[in-house]
Amino acid sequence: MRFAPSPTGPLHIGGVRTALYNFLFARHYGGTFILRIEDTDQARLVEGAEEYIMDALAWAGMKVDEGVREGGPFAPYRQSDRYEIYHRYADELIAKGDAYYAFDSPEELDKLRHDYESRGETFNYGCATRMNMCNSLTLAPEEVTGRLASGEHFVVRYRMPDNEDIHFTDLIRGEIVVNSPTLDDKVLYKSDGMPTYHLANIVDDHLMEITHVIRGEEWLPSLPLHVMLYRSFGWDAPLFAHLPLLLKPTGKGKLSKRDGDKMGFPVFPLYWPYGETASGYREEGYFPEAFVNMLALLGWNPGTEQEIFSMDELIEAFSIDRVGKSGSRFDPDKAKWFNTRYFHMKSDDELVALFMPVVNEKGFNPAPETLKRIISMVKERAGFVKDLWHEADFFFVAPENYDQEVVRKRWNGDSPRQMRELLDVVAGAEPFTSENLEKTVKEWIAGSPYNTGTILNLFRLLMVGASRGPHLFDIVELTGRDETLRRLETGINRLTASAS
Ligand code: GLU
Repeated sequence: MRFAPSPTGPLHIGGVRTALYNFLFARHYGGTFILRIEDTDQARLVEGAEEYIMDALAWAGMKVDEGVREGGPFAPYRQSDRYEIYHRYADELIAKGDAYYAFDSPEELDKLRHDYESRGETFNYGCATRMNMCNSLTLAPEEVTGRLASGEHFVVRYRMPDNEDIHFTDLIRGEIVVNSPTLDDKVLYKSDGMPTYHLANIVDDHLMEITHVIRGEEWLPSLPLHVMLYRSFGWDAPLFAHLPLLLKPTGKGKLSKRDGDKMGFPVFPLYWPYGETASGYREEGYFPEAFVNMLALLGWNPGTEQEIFSMDELIEAFSIDRVGKSGSRFDPDKAKWFNTRYFHMKSDDELVALFMPVVNEKGFNPAPETLKRIISMVKERAGFVKDLWHEADFFFVAPENYDQEVVRKRWNGDSPRQMRELLDVVAGAEPFTSENLEKTVKEWIAGSPYNTGTILNLFRLLMVGASRGPHLFDIVELTGRDETLRRLETGINRLTASAS
């Protein structure tokens, strides 16, 4: 199996899915997963894209067996390092009569296209027109030799059969028949020594002993040409599976690179810092396992209700015949759902290891045991490691302001006095544990004219700044006596001042 991206920009999640299905298929059958960089279209190369592709696969846990970084028996794995190989295959097709030299200039071709268009027709360089063009089928042999010898620019075109039904099979779509006159004579090779995608792709798949090609649906129109090329060379073609498109969350149209940040979710696995910058799943805090699980189910279904799959389970369960024929709608909420599921599958110790750097970054260095307690209290409300900070910030930082709605509802003329009394109670509570604090505070309330709800809500407001957070007395214990007293004091002063 191979994944054969062109480094023309960051890989979008559709590309990662293609890579994933190749990877799962290869692992399922004990095959090899090759990463081949198809960079024959030098004009479209984008700096950083090749590295990005490799990093994205590594992040997603798809270990490449053979590739540019890994090497392997069919090296090199970058097409621009293989240019001398393609030349002789172009020559072979010409010798067989299945390809020919064409000397028509780009200007002449443009003019023809334009003339056809103005008549409402489309120009097709193929069986209907090739005998009127400037090529080795129409020129005398010595003229062709002369032009080649003088270094004139040429292209090599594949000679499609004049009238033949080309039959081929796609593992997802079944039997397909295309009548050859509807296809044009595609360019395979250019006089600057560059093969086009079609020639390089077929030659390399053959030389690299690829048995199955899984790729995006956009390549299906190229399949008849590819099948013909295999036939011309006398090679066995691999089996092909063309994956249906990923659709926008609305279900209308193909998910495009531009949709992501516009629609509020990443379309790239990793942040892309070049050119038009764009967010990535990694930087948004997705676990690679969750990302891969989500992608695997966008187009493939296991035939059961199971939704959570580890990579090993995916490898075990994956099969091409369970890949659907129709496009799969990408659902950003489902992506979050997957991450939340994986988040909750992590142990508290794992979460400590993931969350500690975030807390350190904020300037705090709690004992791992303390952080573990905090995490165990707030994790129910989180689906991402980064959510933990939002759920737990008040364990580290005193409120800077107070939720105005809560203040309006709960803070009144009696509050300062109530909170001062509470402050004295908390100051004297011994031991300073959640349980004992709760008991002491509640006993004091019971012996006072105050309402439990009122006191506890105000207490929380001064500790947290809002009405959120886990069990109040756990917060108080972990915050510690000094800081708790400080927050009560500050809160009373600030709210009294702002109320007067
Ligand atoms: N280089 C092509 C791409 O960028 C590969 C198509 C194929 O897998 O044959 O998608």
